[in-house]
This record gives sequence, C-alpha cells and structure tokens, in this order.
Amino acid sequence: MGSPHVAVVPFPFSSHAPKLLMVARALATAAPSATFSFISTADSLARLGVAAVPGNLRFVEVPSGGGDDQGTPPWRRMELFVEAAEAGGLRHALEMARAAAGGARVSCVVGDAFMSMAAEAGVPWVAVWTGGPCALLAHLIGDAIREDIGEHAANRADELLTSHPGLGSYRVRDLPFGGIGASGDMHRVMSLLFCRMAQRLPRAATAVALNAFPGLFPQDVSAALADALPNSLPIGPYHLLPGAAAPADDPHACLAWLAHRPAGTVAYVSFGTVAALPPDELRELASGLEASGAPYLWSLREDAWPLLPAGFVDRAKANGSGLLVPWTPQAAVLRHPAVGAFVTHSGWGAVVEGMSGGVPMACRPFFGDQQMNARAVARLWCFGTAFGDDTPMTSRGVAEVVTSLLTGAEGARMRARARDLQGRVVEAFEPDGGSMNNFHKFVEVVCARV
Ligand code: UDP
Repeated sequence: MGSPHVAVVPFPFSSHAPKLLMVARALATAAPSATFSFISTADSLARLGVAAVPGNLRFVEVPSGGGDDQGTPPWRRMELFVEAAEAGGLRHALEMARAAAGGARVSCVVGDAFMSMAAEAGVPWVAVWTGGPCALLAHLIGDAIREDIGEHAANRADELLTSHPGLGSYRVRDLPFGGIGASGDMHRVMSLLFCRMAQRLPRAATAVALNAFPGLFPQDVSAALADALPNSLPIGPYHLLPGAAAPADDPHACLAWLAHRPAGTVAYVSFGTVAALPPDELRELASGLEASGAPYLWSLREDAWPLLPAGFVDRAKANGSGLLVPWTPQAAVLRHPAVGAFVTHSGWGAVVEGMSGGVPMACRPFFGDQQMNARAVARLWCFGTAFGDDTPMTSRGVAEVVTSLLTGAEGARMRARARDLQGRVVEAFEPDGGSMNNFHKFVEVVCARV
C-alpha cells in the first residue's frame, strides 16, 4: 500500500478557497510523506497565492461547469458549478488528481462542507466548515427551526431561539437562512446547498473540522453541536495552524504604514470578499471615519472607490490620516499593535482574526452567518458591538463607535475581553493545547490507510 493521496476540494467562491488552502498547507506540513492535491477551478486558483507551498502540495485545475463568461451572475456560476460537481464532476476531478499524481488513487477527500457531493464519491470524506459553528448548528437542525418559527418568522424576529439547545443566545432574525422569507436566485441556490449539506454531513463525513478552538463557546453550544455532529473537531483558527499561513503578501505596504502609528490608535475597516455596502451607507462610513479623527486603514475593492465622497481619497493621502487599499494582509494587520478597532461585516474569518489579534470589533453584518457572528461578538463574548438591526450605518454612528472603541471606557472593557480571547487562542496552539490536540487527530483521520 502506498502513502496517502489526499484531495483537498474547496468551494471555489468568495473566501472559501483561501481558507481550505490554509488547512491544506497545514496538513501537508504535518504529513510530509503524504501527497496533497488541491483541486479547484482556474479562476479560483488564479486568485490564490500558490507560491511557497510545501513540496508535497500540488494544484490541479478542474473545469468550472460553465459560467466563465464575465456576464454570468454569481448565483448562476455557483449553480452551474455545483450541479456539474453533483453530476459526476467531483468524481472526474478526483480522477484528474489521480492522473496528475502518477496514478496514485485518492485515499481521502478533505472537502469544504459546501461540497457535500463528496459523500457520494466513494472515498472517505473529511469536511471543513469555514463559517461560524453556531450557523452550522442552525443549518443542521434547520428543519426543526423552520417547523418552530413557521410562517410567522417576520413577527417573531426578536424572539430568542431558547427552545433550540445551543442557540438560546440568538434571535430569529440572526438565523443564517438567507434572511427569513428571503427570496431570489442566490437564496434558492444557497438553500439547496445548505439543505444537501445538512443531510449529508452527519451521515457521511468521517470528521468535520471547525474554525474555532475548543472551549470558545459555552458548554450548551458545544453539547448541542456534539449532539448534531458527533465527529466535529475544532482545530482553529485555521490561519494559526503550523504551516497554514503563507508569508504576508503586502503589495500596498499596509504594515509599513501601520509601523508609524502609535499603539491602539488605528481603525481597520474591511467587509471581506463579497459584501458591498449600499452607496449611501458607504459615504456615511467614509464621513464617519473622517469625523472620528482617528487614522484608518480601509480595505475596499477599487470598483467602490468612485462612490466615496468627493475629495475623500485625496484628503486621506494629503494629510496621511487614512490609507485606502484594495487588499490588505488582514490577519497580520489585526495582529499589529497599532490597530485598536475593527469595523467589519463579521464574516467568520474576520471574527477569528479579530479575536486572535485581541482587537475589539464593530459589526455591520450582511448575510449568511454574519448576523449570528455579530450577535456572538456583542453578546456572548462581549468584545465588540453591532450596529443597529435593519438600520444603515450613519456618519455620526460610525464616528461614535470608532471613538468609543479606540478611546472610551466601554472600548477599554471590550479590548480587555478581546485580549482575554487572544490569550485563549494562544493556549489552544500550545503543544498540548486544544486545537493542536484536535489537529493531530484530524491529521490521523485524513491520512488513515483505507
Ligand atoms: N481578507 C484579507 N484582506 C482583505 C480582505 C479580506 O486578507 O483586504 C481575508 C480575511 O483575512 C479573511 C477573508 O479574507 O480571512 C474573508 O473571510 P470572512 O469569513 O471574514 O468573510 P467573507 O469574505 O467570506 O465574507
């Protein structure tokens, strides 16, 4: 019997592939005699930093299922990709990986939980969940929740989900089902994806990696998760696994800019890879940042720059008060001592990177798990605050929140809690820490001979 050949299969949209690549890099570092094939579409691979990877990690480009035309809307690209993968595309991709590895049969699929068709691929499937663990729990018991809240969800938006173990801190409005009563094509595509995932994960996944450390959530949450998914393994934050992170790529010199700022003075602003503020709210945010008087580092996709208030970019450049860039090395930015506040959409990556950096957060959630994540930041761990429900950010609100996080008494309390979480993250990665112990188990499962 040869050495293991592990296929790592990301969901090739938004920030999923970079997160799976972190797990792949960590696995390849921990198991140098195994071969790892990272299988993804040309488009997704082109957006990844594929340099400086361990020698036993290779990239295999597979078809996208169609939808490569620039005019194809994102929901349709996802739909075409998923349907092609369901209809034998994943099996075909595994054959391509086998051929690329000199005929070595794939012994295990480490696949994004969204790629639940891996359950039917005839190879052990170890799943990786990249989002908030409580959102996963909500998906797994989604039928029971929907039965409970039924048609009256909109009237019950502020009700706590106390009859669902582990979810009692969250409100109906926080649920990650694309917004209760949400409709539209993206909602339809995502609902089907989540529904298949919820059916297949408990039945077919050998183990499920979570981007969290053991003990992050209160006991009732861990117990409910263990009940719904007995084989889950919190091994995160993924970016801190040994070997996971590539050297920080900083083309806009954000870290050098931060180096000139005193400790705890800078507001870092980022809404992740997908969320986009409506133009009016974007302008309110910009003017609120200026009004706060605090230096800011803002990661904003360039297509949104023309929507900013007149003169904003030039003023920032002229007086050095702000740095606007299309991309930052975010995890490194959040670890930088100069950063004292994080204004964010509260994607799960943002949350775990924020807590790893010990930075208090101001959350403006959009969709998916972000509302639950924001709720947990503000109410469970209390190291941040959430902007108002269903109300856009205002210039005044932004200025107040940023000032409070950077210099106020409440901000100081939140920073202390963020630092406490940071300490627990560090402990989780000590040689006998919770995430490290689980990661060793994870490597064993992934590299088991079948
Ligand atoms: N990110 C980054 N630089 C940026 C913006 C985002 O490195 O300028 C990374 C960030 O560190 C995080 C990921 O992109 O790991 C975004 O993941 P998250 O779950 O926060 O949000 P999503 O993009 O999935 O909505």
